[in-house]
Amino acid sequence: MPAAKPAKITYDCSKCPGYCCSYPRIEVKDRDLARLAKHFGLSVAEAEKRFTRRYRDADSDERILRHHKDEIYGSICRFFDTDARRCTVYAARPAVCRQYPNGSKCGYYDFLRFERKHQDDPDFIPSA
Ligand code: SF4
Ligand code: SF4
Repeated sequence: MPAAKPAKITYDCSKCPGYCCSYPRIEVKDRDLARLAKHFGLSVAEAEKRFTRRYRDADSDERILRHHKDEIYGSICRFFDTDARRCTVYAARPAVCRQYPNGSKCGYYDFLRFERKHQDDPDFIPSA
């Protein structure tokens, strides 16, 4: 049987203000941290201190990316360039960022496209 054709990607991150980078919990596993440390020429301990913080609740204990302020979403990953609206560590980004949105569709992009069409404004950005 021929291999199934990969589903066509239906989102375009270059037309999105980076909603997924504003998620409050973006996990950084050990391998992600080692990659970031190497990218910046830092020790793992220094990279962990500068770029991450601990998130704990009843069910989880995770190392997550720190945020900085953002006009659109309130706060966003510290590696996100809020003027250019893009990731500044693309080659060294964590695995979870590489996997997202885990398929051919992005729900936020569908929402954005719907709103832009209905507002008749190709640059419309919904407020947070
Ligand atoms: S929210 Fe969706 S379209 Fe926007 S940057 Fe993330 S993956 Fe791309
Ligand atoms: S590392 Fe890059 S892709 Fe991942 S959340 Fe931060 S800005 Fe977005």
